[in-house]
Amino acid sequence: AAKAAGRNTVTAFSDDLRASAQRRLRVTTELSDAIEAGQMVVHYQPLLHLRTRTVTGVEALVRWEHPERGLLPPSEFVPVAEASGLVDELTRWVLATVARDAAAWDAMGLPLTAAVNISATHMGSGTLVSDVTRALTTSGLRPERLVLELTETSVAEDPERAAEQFAELRVSGIEVSIDDFGSGFSCLGQIVSMPAGILKIDKSLVQGIAGSGHKQASQSAAAVETVVSLARACGMRSVAEGVETPEQLATVAALGCTYAQGFVIARPMPAEDLPRWLGSRSRRRAALAG
Ligand code: C2E
Ligand code: MG
Ligand code: MG
Ligand code: MG
Repeated sequence: AAKAAGRNTVTAFSDDLRASAQRRLRVTTELSDAIEAGQMVVHYQPLLHLRTRTVTGVEALVRWEHPERGLLPPSEFVPVAEASGLVDELTRWVLATVARDAAAWDAMGLPLTAAVNISATHMGSGTLVSDVTRALTTSGLRPERLVLELTETSVAEDPERAAEQFAELRVSGIEVSIDDFGSGFSCLGQIVSMPAGILKIDKSLVQGIAGSGHKQASQSAAAVETVVSLARACGMRSVAEGVETPEQLATVAALGCTYAQGFVIARPMPAEDLPRWLGSRSRRRAALAG
């Protein structure tokens, strides 16, 4: 009986594997067509500079407008794109789109920085610097407007290579940021010695600050405070990610974070909504001041 049960488990397991492999294959084929067919979209989430309370930049977050499944978040297709080698093609499309949008905002008198998420595999492929340069040349966007985000985990995969490419990008004027800091178990010394200008504090730390039990709240605040002073000591700016409540916003501001990003400020929005959102925000602020 035990043997039969064991065999059933194995069969179920390989059925699962087959199903997930088939699903991955389907998503891969569809995804490559989707880029061609114009089904990918970029949404932008504002970044608030806390000292001046002004929006100085945005982060670009890709979505897939799937004809049957609706608007898909990156978690549904970015991992597949990374596993299948399609992610560089996707990122080149995102870079071109973001550079074009940011150049248009610049021309409208909205000088925003725009951050693009880069996968670890792209850093390893050797085309990152040339792909980024091409997007800038085609759009005419100034390199100072572009930020590249790499997660703490992907930097830790090959720190030497990351450091090389970060240095090369920063010489061209492009800023580099370390994303999801505090979510991995990477070597602290390695991360802080990276030539990056921005440290993004993972939302798991930020969201522990308020609304949860008192003890955990003060521990999370201490963790955020530590990362903020670490960033400052390394000459880096800091971003609090995933700020959802006014209390969290007040706390990260009091702790000396440079920027905040999160639903309490704005959700990611389509490019065409951003100028109107910025306009209504500055009118609200003017009304409050006057
Ligand atoms: P990320 O770079 O850390 O981006 C922040 C994520 O947090 C976004 O999820 C954003 O919508 C979400 N977020 C923002 N504010 C809040 C908040 O207040 N509360 C909560 N709970 N979440 C908030 P999204 O858009 O689903 O993206 C997830 C991840 O997918 C990103 O994490 C990034 O790692 C990846 N990603 C997004 N766009 C791209 C891309 O163009 N290329 C690559 N390679 N990865 C991407
Ligand atoms: Mg990011
Ligand atoms: Mg993040
Ligand atoms: Mg993340």
